[in-house]
Amino acid sequence: MKFSERVLNVTPSATLQVSALAKQMQADGIDVINLSTGEPDFATPLNIQTAAIASITDGRASYYTPVSGLPALKTAIINRVEADTGRLVEPNQVTVTVGAKMGLYSLFQAVLEPGDAAMVIAPYWVSYEEQLKLSGATVQIVQPAAPDLKVTVTELEAAKTDATRLLILNSPQNPAGLVYEAAELKAIAQWALDNDVLLVADEIYGKLVYNGTKFTSVLEFSDEIFANTVLIDGVSKAYAMTGWRLGYVVAQKEIISKINLLLGHMTSNPTTAAQYAAIEALSGDQVPVAKMREAFETRLNTTYALLEAVEGVKLSFKPQGAFYFFPDVTEAMVKLGYMNTVEFAMAVLQEAHVAVVAGEAFGMPGHIRLSYATSQELLTEAIARIKAFIEKSE
Ligand code: PLP
Repeated sequence: MKFSERVLNVTPSATLQVSALAKQMQADGIDVINLSTGEPDFATPLNIQTAAIASITDGRASYYTPVSGLPALKTAIINRVEADTGRLVEPNQVTVTVGAKMGLYSLFQAVLEPGDAAMVIAPYWVSYEEQLKLSGATVQIVQPAAPDLKVTVTELEAAKTDATRLLILNSPQNPAGLVYEAAELKAIAQWALDNDVLLVADEIYGKLVYNGTKFTSVLEFSDEIFANTVLIDGVSKAYAMTGWRLGYVVAQKEIISKINLLLGHMTSNPTTAAQYAAIEALSGDQVPVAKMREAFETRLNTTYALLEAVEGVKLSFKPQGAFYFFPDVTEAMVKLGYMNTVEFAMAVLQEAHVAVVAGEAFGMPGHIRLSYATSQELLTEAIARIKAFIEKSE
């Protein structure tokens, strides 16, 4: 069988691969603790489940919806965006997608082509690079020099070329959990505007910030900045709805209509019952979100202290958002004689029975990503296993 160049160039998702291997080991009876996945361990709140079930049993979920989503869902998104950021957007500036992932994919397909370049800041979420490659664009990876892993305008300026069309900014960020402060974010957004670089603000973890950290959305800045911004968001992370596959894009109507043109042929619409669920998520009781956020915060604080006590594992800052740690494990890796963090992560899985993802997958070798979206009991046990594994030869 002959396959396209396009598909042959795709690197499989490292997080899904590690997770699949961990699940296989678990199925074989091995007690593996899986810290590799990027999803909350909580079940979707009951009010959201109930709204979806009602839409199924009374028949509303039996049908296609408009490509850009149920009008009531768009209203719920508009109201949520206004409540959270103060920005009032029009229905034709919103579309709903099969997860934020599809929002990003269809955006790149709509605005990029061979000859264009797109900037991604390391460490970055695994799918950005592969999705950008599929659009034909060149990927420009910017490696921030500061220990807080935040990119500066000077670094962006140095990496930009005449081909640069787009910059992805993810805050709160996966995999290191950093959160840009308002002034830092504004400087980057203003730079993008001044340089005619479209800003893609991936704010999927916006509701998951901890220990007093304030989340700022790019939508809070000037109208000119908003006109140069594409917001990517969704219900997966904040509402524990990864399985429902429901995301949304907010941007200028010209961009939204082109995305809809593609979606009309690619997906038609996200599953109708998931859209009814999302209406309830975005406009219903927000207390479950607050409770899950609090639980993540407690786990972050407890686990951070445990991780700090592991020799050879360095965290240059305490994560402020999302639900991941991204420590530098170079020292431990060298001490144990591994050549790179892919080998190190594999050994952690096979010997310590803890699944983590190697930094190579996020464009920053020397690190591993551990998700704390699991119970404290498992987190504590996992860190103890990693510590024993690293210290075994002493
Ligand atoms: N953006 C980031 C930074 C993510 O980490 C993820 C999921 O892991 C997504 C987007 C995609 O989320 P969704 O489940 O809505 O497709």
